[in-house]
Amino acid sequence: TDTPVTVIGLGLMGRALAGAFLKAGHPTTVWNRTTSKADQLVAEGARLAPTVGDALKAGSLTIICVTDYQVMHELLGASDIEPAGTMLINLTSGDSAQAREAARWAEQRGAHYLDGAIMAIPSAIGTAEAVILHSGPQSDFEAHRSTLDALGTVTYLGADHGLASLYDVAGLAMMWSVLNAWLQGTAMLRTAGVDAATYAPFAQQIAATVAEWLPGYAEQIDSGSFPAEVSALETDVRAMAHLIEESEAVGVNAELPKLIKAMADRSIAAGHGGEQYPVLIEEFGRPRND
Ligand code: NDP
Repeated sequence: TDTPVTVIGLGLMGRALAGAFLKAGHPTTVWNRTTSKADQLVAEGARLAPTVGDALKAGSLTIICVTDYQVMHELLGASDIEPAGTMLINLTSGDSAQAREAARWAEQRGAHYLDGAIMAIPSAIGTAEAVILHSGPQSDFEAHRSTLDALGTVTYLGADHGLASLYDVAGLAMMWSVLNAWLQGTAMLRTAGVDAATYAPFAQQIAATVAEWLPGYAEQIDSGSFPAEVSALETDVRAMAHLIEESEAVGVNAELPKLIKAMADRSIAAGHGGEQYPVLIEEFGRPRND
């Protein structure tokens, strides 16, 4: 807890990160373009650095959390900055290509670089609920893990700097798919006077059951073999047609089930009707080119 740290960027998230370091007892240096956002942190014991260059030198690790990668490059690319020898941990949201490019930029200048993604809201930072993903050299992560622990549940994903961003968006895809499926069902049931709160526990149970299929289905995807052990894709597609017909009959939106059925239809047209649902990975795994 006596490891000095630096936080650059004191927006909603940066202030939460710096606050968690202070609470854990780390000597904390901060920098922000708008200096007034440091006032509360300074009152709690943080030191406000006059420049980004000064802030970088103060900590044995520097967290950067700004709007986007462009801002990060503007701040760290200034001529008076010497990144060599520093440990940069970039918790700014971006895509995997930006993360890999930033890693090359840092490494060319002799800096250590980890890319990260925050899967939490600012108020959760500093609690176990805040999941913070990291990717980059494992030795860098291990060297600073005990310091990063102050921020939440810190997780290491692998050496490829793009992984944190990819896991981040994969998580969003999961979240929205579950929510959208629930909303589709809720919209249908409401036409029969069933309120959302009545359906929610049923939906929760179904989501939990389906979640249990994932490891077994993942084995099929990894082995590239999709024997129909539970049902064949052509059976599932008949049920999809039924979902579309019922949605239209009760007057709710059928766009989402139609989109999913269109993908399954293409897979069947490609000869996969007798295989199991995860064979659709082949449709998900390529851009649509018609
Ligand atoms: P804010 O808009 O609250 O803060 C943005 C930060 O970037 C501020 O420190 C701002 O400085 C700085 N900044 C923007 N443009 C410039 C510039 N041209 N030069 C210097 N500094 C600049 O955003 P958040 O703190 O909420 O988000 C920061 C990052 O964290 C984003 O990438 C976001 O996606 C990610 N994140 C946020 C979550 C959230 O719930 N808030 C959740 C998960 C990830 P200034 O104060 O001077 O404007």
